[in-house]
Amino acid sequence: MTARIPFVTLRPREDEADVRAAIERVLASGWFVLGPEVERFEEEFAAASGASHAIGVGTGTDAIALILRALDVGPGDEVITTPLSAAYSALAIQMAGATPVFADIDPRRLTVDPAQVERMVTPRTRAILPVHLYGQAADMVTLTAIATRHHLAIVEDCCQAHLGHAAGRPVGTMGVAGAFSFYPTKNLGALGDGGAIITNDASLATRARRLRNGGQTTTYHHVEFGVNTRLDELQAAILRARLPRLRAWTEVRRHLARLYRAALADAPIRVLPELDAGHVYHLFVVLAGDEPAARDRLRQFLDQCGVQTLVHYPTTISSQPAFARFASTEYPCAESACRQVVSLPLHPGLEETAVHEIASAIGRFQAALHRQPSA
Ligand SMILES: *Cc1c(COP(=O)(O)O)cnc(C)c1O
Repeated sequence: MTARIPFVTLRPREDEADVRAAIERVLASGWFVLGPEVERFEEEFAAASGASHAIGVGTGTDAIALILRALDVGPGDEVITTPLSAAYSALAIQMAGATPVFADIDPRRLTVDPAQVERMVTPRTRAILPVHLYGQAADMVTLTAIATRHHLAIVEDCCQAHLGHAAGRPVGTMGVAGAFSFYPTKNLGALGDGGAIITNDASLATRARRLRNGGQTTTYHHVEFGVNTRLDELQAAILRARLPRLRAWTEVRRHLARLYRAALADAPIRVLPELDAGHVYHLFVVLAGDEPAARDRLRQFLDQCGVQTLVHYPTTISSQPAFARFASTEYPCAESACRQVVSLPLHPGLEETAVHEIASAIGRFQAALHRQPSA
């Protein structure tokens, strides 16, 4: 059964005619890999993101891994990241051959805590991979100071933060490079997989461009061990059709987030604070409280009201079987967040009335709780 208010709807809306025209254009061109659409998209995405270079790749995960490889971060090197993200953030570090090291999160922002990052620095540390979680930037000012003090590169995971800002600067441009995903649910989504790297460093851009295409400098001339991860022409054309709308879609997300905040002011849940006006609200996340099953009860209640919610993320990356061997300490703040977080529906196609309906359902949940006899 589909929910009356689904978490997200991915069918094209006002962009449909442009998306279809883009697909037709590529079909008619007969050119499908590394052609003019990718080149144009790279220029347009770099300009929109405030960077000098963009390189289209196959996925956001590949974007992170290729940036690390272009920086010569590999076996024996450590990269410090957050335990609260899509596991792909840490997986990309492993793909580069390096070792992920987790540092606990700041309990207010839910992004990596700079003080914890500094605690985890060793002589092997080469880079920090902050994740701009839910569309809000990590504390880049403090992280930059730490990176400078310890001679570390910052690689920004911007997969949830297209057009976001960190302390007034575009995400992906405070560190050496930023990685973006165009997975269909992201703020800028393709009709399949896609990703991009942005950077202001020309030599890093050249190296990443070579690495994504088999390590070739020119056709049939492979100068190093590369991979095959390219954004295809069809996805690039679709992204080009959508990119001009991204700014307006982002403003709709911000507007809906403001409505949620106002409507949830007295609700029995905690709304994550907006600590940076550059937040682009990939997700609107609330905390259900740390009592056992509080989150499950809230989600079940909303489900009965026809509202679909999701959890980003139910477990820390450091407690996943594939990553447990990299857990070098406890992560109480991330564990606590994993027990409490609930993502409410928020996307540019969501009606204002749906936001009010969801907020009012959460208010009724509180009343339902108070009516329950105490055990
Ligand atoms: C989506 C996402 C990724 C992975 O992107 P893919 O394109 O699916 O590989 C990595 N990090 C974060 C924070 C993400 O949200």
